[in-house]
Amino acid sequence: MKEIAAEMAQRPDRGEVATYIPELARVDAKSFGLVVIGAEGHVAAGGDSETLFSIQSISKVFTLTLALGRAGNRLWRRVGREPSGSPFNSIVQLERERGIPRNPFINAGAIAVTDLILSGHRPREALGDILRFMQFVADDPSIMIDEAVAASEQRTGFRNIALANYMKSFDVLENPVDFTLGVYFHHCAIAMSCRQLAMAGRFLAHLGRNPSTGLSVVQPESARRINAIMLMCGHYDGSGEFAYRVGLPGKSGVGGGVLAIAPGKASIAVWSPGLDANGNSHLGRVALELLTKRMGWSIFGA
Ligand code: GLN
Repeated sequence: MKEIAAEMAQRPDRGEVATYIPELARVDAKSFGLVVIGAEGHVAAGGDSETLFSIQSISKVFTLTLALGRAGNRLWRRVGREPSGSPFNSIVQLERERGIPRNPFINAGAIAVTDLILSGHRPREALGDILRFMQFVADDPSIMIDEAVAASEQRTGFRNIALANYMKSFDVLENPVDFTLGVYFHHCAIAMSCRQLAMAGRFLAHLGRNPSTGLSVVQPESARRINAIMLMCGHYDGSGEFAYRVGLPGKSGVGGGVLAIAPGKASIAVWSPGLDANGNSHLGRVALELLTKRMGWSIFGA
């Protein structure tokens, strides 16, 4: 990990840091962190592995996990599970598909999943459930929401507001749009380090169970399915490229983080804030490609 971090520090091609909110625009483009946690719990780290960053859309993996636990297969009435081939905030596709988002990782899909978690609860309770779930899977009660990021998301989230209202017009959302969006913006604003994120992903690498605590998070079948959706949809319309180059289930966020899962082997978190044209971390992908090649970890072999 130290070698890869040193190699990444030299790279001139770093992508573009997200600028849609000041909190993300301010992040140092030179930051880079990488953490791998193996099956026995050994932590290997390189670069800024303890620095907190905004996990953004990576939170969608954990809201999907929670929603599947609560609603089971009923979830798939409200959201599909096919790759989108469209940008993460596309509105065109939603119109063509009559308000049913293509998958749980594009923004519309994640908003629909959040709405399901919210039903029967107050926004504050639902958000508390999501945050406590994150603390539970990461085995770390210090994980928090960055309130400044959440407030900025809310102030500038016009596209997400449009997507949510559009879905509401098809009765895909059950709750008041601003309640659902409030919870969505806040879970995107969770701040974590690479180490915390790699910890949180361990249940996905080990058949739904955290191998250190022995605690079961989801059924093995659910873990397998979440990994499948991460592989096909975790990088929006860059998912094909990520599978081609890295060969692991992965989920990106516009904060520059990526959670990647080597099933049976390791949970991996990488962070480099510069993004490519699809809104995925540029060096995050480059580093993961190096790592999977060196370790022989691609799920497709070699
Ligand atoms: N909060 C961001 C949004 O909703 C998350 C997008 C992302 O990380 N790709 O637009």
